[in-house]
Amino acid sequence: MANSCETCSGLSDREHAEQKFGSDNNTYLPAAFSRLTDVFDYEPCSSRKRILKQCPECGAFFLYRTDYVFLVNGSEDDEYLMRLSKQESDDLLREAGMESV
Ligand SMILES: [Zn+2]
Repeated sequence: MANSCETCSGLSDREHAEQKFGSDNNTYLPAAFSRLTDVFDYEPCSSRKRILKQCPECGAFFLYRTDYVFLVNGSEDDEYLMRLSKQESDDLLREAGMESV
């Protein structure tokens, strides 16, 4: 499927970023990530996030996950963004108690 969406075409199928305390090599997710809208937050009370996101322009679903490691002198954060297949987004919508359209 050719992706000509202006909003999310800047996102790969898999994105990864990590921020380590005191590191000069921190990486961040592409700017397009901030334009995705939250659909459902599976872990609202956890420091490890798992959020279903959707592109407001083309409707593509993404899963955003974070991993958080607490260290004595700071913390390490890993962020993952994965483009979902129809099957994967259907499963996650069902888990969220939402019907897919
Ligand atoms: Zn899009």
